[in-house]
Amino acid sequence: MHRKFDELRLTGSLPSPSTAGLRILELTKDDDYDHEELIRTLLADPALSGRIIKIANAANKDGLPNVKTVGQATMRLGRRAIRSVALGFTLVADNRRGEAKHFDYKDYWANALATAVTVHVLAQVTRHVDPASAFTCALLADVGKLAFASIHPERYSDLLRDNPGIPDLALARLESRAFGIDHFEVSAAIMASWGLPREFQEVALLRAQEQDIGTPEIGGDEDVDDDGKKTLLTLVRSGRQIARVLTGCWEPDDARWRGGFLSLSHLCEDLDMEYDALLSLCDAVVPSWKEWGSIIGITTFNAGSFQDVANEFERRGLRSAMLTAPADMRRPHVPEEKESGLFQAELDLPLHPLDRPGVDDGEPTRILLVDDDSQMLRLIGHHLRREGYEVLTAETSAQGLAIALEHTPQILITDWMMPEMSGIELCATLRRSQVGMKMYVILVTARGDDEQIVEAFDAGADDYIVKPFNPRILIARVRAAQRMIQLRERVEDSERSRLRQVAELGIMTRKLRAAALTDTLTELPNRRYAMKRLKQEWETARRTNRPLSVILCDIDRFKSVNDDYGHDVGDIVLREVAHTLQAHGRASDVLCRLGGEEFLVINVATDVDTSEKAAERLRSAIERHVIRHSGFDRAVTLSLGVAQMSPDMESVDDLIKASDEALYVAKESGRNRVCVSGQAEIQIGDDQDPQRFSA
Ligand code: GH3
Ligand code: MG
Ligand code: MG
Repeated sequence: MHRKFDELRLTGSLPSPSTAGLRILELTKDDDYDHEELIRTLLADPALSGRIIKIANAANKDGLPNVKTVGQATMRLGRRAIRSVALGFTLVADNRRGEAKHFDYKDYWANALATAVTVHVLAQVTRHVDPASAFTCALLADVGKLAFASIHPERYSDLLRDNPGIPDLALARLESRAFGIDHFEVSAAIMASWGLPREFQEVALLRAQEQDIGTPEIGGDEDVDDDGKKTLLTLVRSGRQIARVLTGCWEPDDARWRGGFLSLSHLCEDLDMEYDALLSLCDAVVPSWKEWGSIIGITTFNAGSFQDVANEFERRGLRSAMLTAPADMRRPHVPEEKESGLFQAELDLPLHPLDRPGVDDGEPTRILLVDDDSQMLRLIGHHLRREGYEVLTAETSAQGLAIALEHTPQILITDWMMPEMSGIELCATLRRSQVGMKMYVILVTARGDDEQIVEAFDAGADDYIVKPFNPRILIARVRAAQRMIQLRERVEDSERSRLRQVAELGIMTRKLRAAALTDTLTELPNRRYAMKRLKQEWETARRTNRPLSVILCDIDRFKSVNDDYGHDVGDIVLREVAHTLQAHGRASDVLCRLGGEEFLVINVATDVDTSEKAAERLRSAIERHVIRHSGFDRAVTLSLGVAQMSPDMESVDDLIKASDEALYVAKESGRNRVCVSGQAEIQIGDDQDPQRFSA
């Protein structure tokens, strides 16, 4: 669809849903899809199946009994919702973080999801477009940015670093300049490549016509003919604006955020809604956003109440003030602190609010705690959270397994003795999965005897800790785990950059190799290439019993060109002769510059008579081609010697020698002529009278 997009696609890996995700998209394209096959595909991805069931139950507003199987869930949700979940979730799973340092992946996903959820709610209210489709369209509206971040991590990161908080349209202009394509176009192209509806692509492209500041003028879009598309575009634009406020800093005194909030009132007209209704709709989005966030595995932030903030602004007399639209209302990342300090008194750990080893570059290490003792979970969880770790908890191994697959924690701390599945079994099961292979597992055991420890390590544990333990020791172990993880990540990073270097080296080597075989002045293959190639053709001709001929060409009295017009003009003449020879040869001829003003043509599978005709054609072309440069204004002439490989020749040297002898005869016979090897003795001619001579 877009040449630049194709180039981009070749440069690196575009964000893409997992195989299962793509398969589901493909399967559910039409209404009469294969339901059995869909269920099989979903079941192949346990994390995805789990989410589908969760969503089916979360969306259950009619008080129906909870669904228990994937089959029931798909029936309840319907085709479109399944598509959204499959796409959204599998895409997020692989693109949660990445290499572009200044691309805020967390913020990107938080925003994408907030937009999608808002649009979903808006679609339910306005009733013009299918809410599930609207959700997908909004979730992917900016996927082009993610694509830049994954394909050009360094360049895109630099661009973002140098332009913090830049509005989307201005960003698109910079992208165009840097990559020849902008994120709106990339989003549309990606959607097309996934087979998503055309109207999604059109909405992505139309967003590029949004104004940097102020209200989107939906009514003014003449080229949006279709009502559904128009509504979808309005919803996505509005959803995005609401999402920016929702995911912003919630500081009424922050001018940008306040501006963004106040400009929400512009949306009333587009959405045909009273301001108060809009505010309560926004407030309704918040829990939905959090719910989806926990299902899909996207971090959501704390948000306030839209209604309360609006009241506050009204008190300040700000309601009607229309400020500029927000560019960067992002909040600094502060991990949510929910723990109340419940266990503070029982613990003797000093608090170091500034020294939080769990947080590394703003991205906290995720730890999953599995223990059937809820008191224990709270206690350990409290300690780890206070250290800045992001803590997930599960009371059974089965639950732990599901969470581990969904949220891919870096560290798992699991109790050994648990009903149903033990910690050892959980560990062994995880080790068999792709995600579990990398996890750092600490087993918590009640007995610290040798046998149990050996068993723990055999099951794949990285470390163990014996109950009861001092929380300080646990933290120390976790820190050690974190060092291991960082070390491994560093190794993986350097492995990645090593692979990149190897690839670059490969390209360099190819370039160097090509350079070594190319003549820089004429860009023809050089002598080294000519000899290599001739040897190859020699062998082939011998093997296949086919003829092989060569034409050796030498410019006549070339020294005088240099002498009379200078070396630079001599170079121009050489180049022009090379190009003329090239233009008048056959595609199968191999034309090389042997050096100086000497050229060689290898005529593959050609006998001497045909070769002679070819030589004559070249001679005549050069003679007719007037070269004009810096006072030089005439044609030059060529003498040519033709020779064919014969049984008495031992090597290519003999063939070259024969053509050289023929060339010598051509020169001696008066130049500007073709001479064939082994046909006759020298005859003296004159320079102006081209004839055929034989050596
Ligand atoms: P003949 O008809 O007998 O071939 O005469 P000629 O002058 O062409 O032959 P000669 O071998 O005496 O001179 C070749 C000249 O080509 C000498 C050298 O200065 C010039 N030459 C060789 N390589 C280059 C080059 O790369 N650029 C330029 N400008 N001149 C070159
Ligand atoms: Mg010459
Ligand atoms: Mg010469």
